Amino acid sequence: MNHQNIEELVRKLLEEIGENPNREGLVKTPRRVAEAWAFLVRGYKQDPAEIINGALFESDSNHMVIVKDIEIYSLCEHHMLPFYGRCHIGYIPRGKVVGVSKLARIADIYARRLQIQERLTHQIARILMDHLHPEGVGVVVEAKHLCMMMRGVEKQNSSMVTSAMLGSFHNSVATREEFLTLIGRREMS
Ligand code: ZN
Repeated sequence: MNHQNIEELVRKLLEEIGENPNREGLVKTPRRVAEAWAFLVRGYKQDPAEIINGALFESDSNHMVIVKDIEIYSLCEHHMLPFYGRCHIGYIPRGKVVGVSKLARIADIYARRLQIQERLTHQIARILMDHLHPEGVGVVVEAKHLCMMMRGVEKQNSSMVTSAMLGSFHNSVATREEFLTLIGRREMS
């Protein structure tokens, strides 16, 4: 991502919406926007597989591991407006576990790209299934979309919930129910 190109685009955008990019409050805006975007889409340059493979350790536990309420901030690819909320990840290890903080990192790497919530949810589940090789993985994302909230009426409080269940979380009703109960989402089972 070339900062100068982004700055130029932002200057054009400001003109197109009827603003004066040279007025005092806006002079530094293109640069600030370019810096913000570099941060907001930094996930394109990060490899979640590398994060997992660098933090695997042996474990003979086969109890469900859950990390709840991981904050996520992403951008919808349809409007390039934020959606934000929480992600819950669960898995049942098969010989290997991954450091808990890495689960949050992985969610963040996929969130820091242009996304749709369904794909974000599925990508997190898939990468864990493929590199951690657990019995199963469950991911639930609850998020509010500014493209709905800012443009619509009476949609201000609606949030969207998506889930991805793989392996035993998909095949076993009991496993899925345990996960959903533990994350406080029993009604989804
Ligand atoms: Zn949108």
